[in-house]
Formats: sequence, C-alpha cells, structure tokens
Amino acid sequence: MPKYVYGFTEGNKDLKDLLGGKGANLAEMTNLGLPVPPGFTITTEACRHFLTEGGVPQGLWDEVGEHLRAMEDRMGKRLGAADDPLLVSVRSGAKFSMPGMMETVLNIGLNDESVHGLSEQAGNERFAWDSYRRLIQMFGRTVLGIEGDRFEDAIEDAKRHNGVTSDLELTASDFHHLVQTFKGIVKDETGGEFPADPRVQLHMAVEAVFGSWNAPRAVVYRRQERIPTDLGTAVNIVAMVFGNLGMDSGTGVAFTRDPGTGNRGVYGDYLQNAQGEDVVAGIRNTIPLQQLEKIDAGSYHALLGIMRTLENHYRDLCDIEFTIERGKLWMLQTRVGKRTAEAAFRIAIQLVDQGLIDMDEAVARVTGDQLAHLMFPRFAGHDDLRPIAKGMNASPGAAVGKAVFCSERAEELAAQGEDVILVRRETTPDDLAGMIAARGVLTSRGGKTSHAAVVARGMGKTCVCGAEQLDVDTRERRFTAPGGVVVEEGDVISIDGSTGEVYRGEVPVMASPVVRYFEGTGDLSDDLISAVHRVMVHADGRRRLAVRANADTPEDAERARRFGAEGIGLCRTEHMFLGERRRLVEDLILAVSGEERKAALDALEPLQKSDFVGIFAAMDGLPVTVRLIDPPLHEFLPDITALSVKVALDGDGASGRDRRLLAAVRRLHEENPMLGLRGVRLGLVIPGLFAMQVRAIAQAAAERRAAGGDPRAEIMIPLVGAVQELEHVRDEALRILAEAQVEAAIGTMIEVPRAALTAGQIAEAAHFFSFGTNDLTQMTWGFSRDDVEGAFFSRYLDLGIFGVSPFESIDREGVGRLMTIAVKEGRATRPDLKIGICGEHGGDPESVRFCHEIGLDYVSCSPFRVPVARLEAARGAA
Ligand code: ADP
Ligand code: MG
Ligand code: MG
Repeated sequence: MPKYVYGFTEGNKDLKDLLGGKGANLAEMTNLGLPVPPGFTITTEACRHFLTEGGVPQGLWDEVGEHLRAMEDRMGKRLGAADDPLLVSVRSGAKFSMPGMMETVLNIGLNDESVHGLSEQAGNERFAWDSYRRLIQMFGRTVLGIEGDRFEDAIEDAKRHNGVTSDLELTASDFHHLVQTFKGIVKDETGGEFPADPRVQLHMAVEAVFGSWNAPRAVVYRRQERIPTDLGTAVNIVAMVFGNLGMDSGTGVAFTRDPGTGNRGVYGDYLQNAQGEDVVAGIRNTIPLQQLEKIDAGSYHALLGIMRTLENHYRDLCDIEFTIERGKLWMLQTRVGKRTAEAAFRIAIQLVDQGLIDMDEAVARVTGDQLAHLMFPRFAGHDDLRPIAKGMNASPGAAVGKAVFCSERAEELAAQGEDVILVRRETTPDDLAGMIAARGVLTSRGGKTSHAAVVARGMGKTCVCGAEQLDVDTRERRFTAPGGVVVEEGDVISIDGSTGEVYRGEVPVMASPVVRYFEGTGDLSDDLISAVHRVMVHADGRRRLAVRANADTPEDAERARRFGAEGIGLCRTEHMFLGERRRLVEDLILAVSGEERKAALDALEPLQKSDFVGIFAAMDGLPVTVRLIDPPLHEFLPDITALSVKVALDGDGASGRDRRLLAAVRRLHEENPMLGLRGVRLGLVIPGLFAMQVRAIAQAAAERRAAGGDPRAEIMIPLVGAVQELEHVRDEALRILAEAQVEAAIGTMIEVPRAALTAGQIAEAAHFFSFGTNDLTQMTWGFSRDDVEGAFFSRYLDLGIFGVSPFESIDREGVGRLMTIAVKEGRATRPDLKIGICGEHGGDPESVRFCHEIGLDYVSCSPFRVPVARLEAARGAA
C-alpha cells in the first residue's frame, strides 16, 4: 500500500507533485529549522483516489490517526479534548498555487465542551468563542456548502445590534450568541447538527478539501492558468497557532521584495488580533508590515531574519504567511512568489548581481509572456488630467474601459467586444470570470496581497487595489470619488496599474519604454531597461533558433529588423493585389484571350516589382521569403450578393463589365474556399500568374544588386500537397530566374497534412520548408479556423479535450507529430534542408520551444513578437 501521509519532517520542497506546494514548502521550512507548527500532509495521490473512486483509500484514516497521535504526544494535548484541546487546521494545497481557489478550515476540534477548555487554558473567553464561531462558519461554508452570506449577515446583525462597526468590538458573549445562531443556520440549512466529534470534523474537512479540487471556480482558474485538471490537491493538517488571542497577537502576509516592482524592502500587511483569512478577506484594513516594528520589535526582526534565510535558500522572491501568538512568531506558509513582469526582470538581474544565480538561470526565470506584457502601451503624460483617486499599484499596465460592477456584466459587455474595468469593493474567487473578461480591475479595499492583486498579477492584468477614497456601491452600480465625482456603470474610466491612479474618462496611451529600447532609443540607465537588455543579450548568445519576422511592407520589415529579426520568414503578396490594383486583378480574371491575360499581368508586374524592391532594401543582406499568392481569387472580386443586386437594379442598363464580373464571381464561387482553388493550385490553373510574380521578384533583386545592395530572395510556394505540384512551378521559376541571372532558393510551405506525410519526396524539389501551422492545424483537426472559436471551443476547453486552443499553441501530439515526421523525412532526403515556421505559432512561447526541440532552423512571427521569440528560443535551448 502506498504511503499516503508525510510528516513535515519527511518532506521537502521538491516533492510538490506528491505533497502540493504548501506541504512541500512547510516541510522545507521545518527542515530549515524555522518555527513551523507541527503537522503532516496527505498526498495528492490520496486525493486522486478519492476523486476517481468516490472515497478515500483504504487505510488512510489509520495512517492519519498515527500521525495525529504523534502530533498530540509532541504537543501534550489531545485533539478536541474537553480540558485542554489540541486544535488543527485542514488546508488544501495543490502543486500549483491557486490563491483562494480551494478550501481551508481552521480550529478543528472545538465543540461545546472543548471551547471551555480552550477558554480556560488561554485565559481568554472571547478568543475561545471567536475561534468556535469561526470553525462553524468555515466548516459550514466549506464542508456543508452553506452560502457564506448567511453567516456574514448574522455577524453584521450582531454588530448592528451592539451599535459597533468592527469585529474587534464584539465581546465573548456576542460570540457565544453567534455560535448558537450559527448552529441554528447549520440545522436550518442541512437538517442536521453541527458535528461535535473532532474526528468526524477532521475527516469531513479532509474529504471536502479533496472535493474542492473540482469546484467550478477551481476549474475556471485551472483553465485560465493552463494547470492540468487531473493533479488533485494535497491536504495539510497543521496544529493551530492563534493570532486572535489579543492585541499582542496577529497575522500577516509578506513578500521578501516588492512583487510589483522587484525593489528590495519590507512589503507586507499585518492585522492585530486576527486569524488567517482576515488579512486577505479585507474584513478590516490591514497595516503596513513596517509598523509591526513598533508593535512587537522582537517578532518583527525575527521575521526579517527568516525572510533573508528564505530568499537565500530559495534564491528567489518568496511570499509568506505568518502568525504571531502572544509574541511568538510562527511560519504558516511560503512559496516562490508571483510577481509582475517588470519585477521578474529586475529580480532576475538583482539575483545575478548578488551572486545567487547565473545568467542562464536569469534567462530561465523570465518568460516570453512577461516580456510581451512589458511591451504593452502605457498612459502617456497626462499632466492636465487629475486622478479622481489613488490606490495601490498592484499590477502594472494601462487599462481603459467602461466601469462595471459585477462579474456577469463584465463578461456580457466583453462578449460584445467592449473594454471593461471590473470595479469591486474587493474581489473573491467568484469574480474570476469577470476578472478574465476585464481589461483591468479596481478595488476599494485590500492591499497588495489581496485576492484581486494576487490574481491580477498572475494573469498579467492591470490592477489598482485598495483605493479607499472610493465608495463602491455594487447594488446601485456606481462609485463615488472625493469631491462628489460619481461614476455609473458604463462610464469610461482609466486605471494606471503602475502608479495606482484612477482617472475618469479615457487617458491616451503611449508606447512602453521597453518598446522604445527595442526601437533603439531606450534609456539604458533605467534599471528595468538595463535588466531587459542584459537578459536579451545573454538570450541571443544562447539560442540556436534564428528568429525572423512576418512582414509584408518595408515599414514592417524595418521595425522587425530593429526588434532583432534576422530576415523575413513570410512576406505575403496578396495585399499587392488589393486597393487600386483590384481592377487589374479583375481584368486578369475576366481575360478571355491569352493576349488580354498577358496585358493584365504586364500591368501588375512593375507594381509588384517596386513592392519587392522596398522590402529587399529594408532587409538588405538578410533572407526574405516571398510567398506567391495564396488566397482564393474570389477574395479579390466584389461580393456576390452586392454585385447581383447591382446588376439586377441596373437591369438592361447594367454594364457589360458588371455582367461579366458577376458571371466570373458565380463561376469562382466555392462552398469551401479554404479547401478550394488557392495556393499552388492557382499557379497551375491560371497561366502566367506565378511567372509574373517570380519575374517581379527576380527583377527587383537584380535592380537592388545593380544598386550595390545584397538582396536574398527566397521563393515560397503555398499549399503544396504533392511533389508534382511543386515540380511544375519550380521548373518554370528556375527558368525565369536563370533568364534574369538571379539566384534564389525555391521552397514550399508545409501546411497540408499530405505534404508533411510525403515530405521525403517533396524535399527533392524544395530547398527549404516552412510550416504553415495555421492551415496545418485547420486541416489536421478539420476545424475551420474562422468558425470554431465561438462555436464550440469553449465547450472543448471545458471538457478538457485540449487545455489551450490548438490555433494558439501547437498541438504537439497531432500537428506536432506531422511536423516531426516532415523534419525527419525531409532532412533524410536533403540533409541541408532549411526548415522554419511562419504560422501564428511562431510567436507563441510554448510553440517556439517545441520548434527548438524538433530541430527547426528558425521561427518567424509578427514583428512585435520577435523579442518574445528570441527570449523563448533561448529558454528552450537552456
Ligand atoms: P490559502 O491557500 O487559501 O492561503 P491556507 O491554507 O494558507 O489557505 O489558510 C488560510 C489562512 O489560515 C492562512 O492565512 C493561514 O495563515 C491560516 N492558517 C492556516 N493554518 C493555520 C494554523 N495551523 N494556525 C493558524 N493559522 C492558520
Ligand atoms: Mg495561504
Ligand atoms: Mg496557409
């Protein structure tokens, strides 16, 4: 039988799969000799058993009983004993932290007898009844599934009845009454009594924590954070220590550095005479951690010492939860802390400079997503605009949108394409869907460790929290700011997550300083820019993959080059047929005789040539892969309905051209255009079309060369599925290139599954491959990319058929397998075959790493994603 329970002395930080993050780190701290209350962890394996079999594994309760007995011996108390009870907490803790997503129950072991024992032992009656009502409240909510409001309303009633506003002012007898009321609520809601037997409490709580893995909000969170659905959670049983014993006790959370900026210093929130959840729940306003020095200097300095120990040990920013019981400090949790993108870069470089990590590690510690986040625009100087309020800068960025006051409304408006800012007094896990839908989050209560702040930072979402001057009325859907400013639902506001400022109306935004750095005008004396610079320089030295850009114009090509692109991996030519040139394309399609067709092509050729000259100049000395025309021709013709109506209305007066166009549109109409006459098929069906494009490329290259330039054209044929298709086009292209005395590689996209499967043959005729993973994904799954997102992807995500859309991140198992086959068989035929990717995936961090793994030579992505791909290529190579 597997071992299902580990004492804190048996685990360590590397056992997160088995013990969850919380359990593994509690064990690690225990072994470091830090003051952690005694406890043990039930493994995730037991949870998985519970979830699949519908019950705990056999023997689990015996194993728990043994560990509990050892803990009781150590503490000299028995769980829930009437005279001097041991109390414990039952805490969820999965491998990946899911803040507030799952459940915890404190003060297990209290009942009508042991509450007296606790009171006598502590010499504090109020504390004992407060602890007891907390147990019934948490147990009621978490284990019995009773609406939390029922308990909270009862507390509010008690306060109102006594004419007080803070829970601190409630007395022992008030809490005694609340216990009776709470028991009544339990009876009322469940038809049964609150369980008095401490073992029953314990077992029920453990099972509830197991079950909370599948609570809807946990499911939503995992999907957003791409956490696998089948890991399960561990459960930690921890001897209680009490922050609610009086003003010499309290509880707090802290970071070893500022998670918003990465700056060093003391960051945290503390609450006197309080227990666990009170700090994050925003029950009362917390005080900044620095003030603890005045309240209890001994504990404060002990805490700072422990924070240093943890940073040096984990070699990273840690966040911690602690409790002080009558002047004695206890550590209740630590983990490597979430941080903003800018903090991630600063901290990585600070740790290098402190000698704690090396540059390879620094590159591994930041992500492409974080870099992308730093490239978001921010608010432009807004001197004339005055903020209406200021809160805490919880998660940076500039967000503008309509104020909304509940999660549902946020989702509703966002679905209609509106930008919204979710405004709440404080957020709870129930607001998650709204937070995901919103551009930014604004709260009036809670510090940098509040739910809103932690979750927004994790999502990379702009957040201002604790803007206390705001009076948020969610029922009336409005908030009031000082000076009588009223903001109603739907009014536009702007929030600055870097300063904490809140504005009414729309504040203009500007490019980020990091983008200015990539543009070549950044300020290297700024510590963030210098951190980004050092990371990028190291990354460029470490990566094997080259990074190119998808660019169709000289302007895009220049920008991409400044961002570090080492060529163009995809230059689309379709836009060269649009605008004023549409008429020429129409002429081409309407042409009946060879002469008419030639005339139309001759008119297009010089226009195309000049487009290419500009792009070759911008990318001088670097490869430019030009893809011949790809989309179905009807995309260049008028809309069939509009044209039919026009011809019908014009009646006999309709022009001959319109009539002929209509006939052509009808002739070219396709039921499945994406599987129709496009790509190489066009080249084979419309004589002279590809030849004209190749001639334009050849002449542009010749012209650049004559001007002293170094053009490096590569010609790419789209949608090839068989080597024979490619051969026809290639032979003609080679003839034209030879005539123009220009050399250019000729290659193909691999975007039809058949091309991947016959890559060995296709490589005979291709100098290079470039994976078109948009089409390849579309055709491999049989999903129409333009239709699926709204239609059924969310259901697929819910069902876990995939964790992320295959159009966002390469589906390794299916599409990725085809790619692997194509790489292997293509290179078997032609060992020096150059292989890249030019689909949307070329800028997706996860996909970039995959491309590294399967041995591609380069990725190509939009100019803006080039730095992200450079960084991820290095992270993949590490
Ligand atoms: P979460 O994962 O949601 O943070 P925790 O398991 O950390 O939940 O517990 C919630 C709160 O209860 C924390 O603030 C923690 O400090 C407090 N807490 C948990 N166990 C104990 C304990 N044994 N003694 C005192 N406080 C506790
Ligand atoms: Mg916690
Ligand atoms: Mg394609």
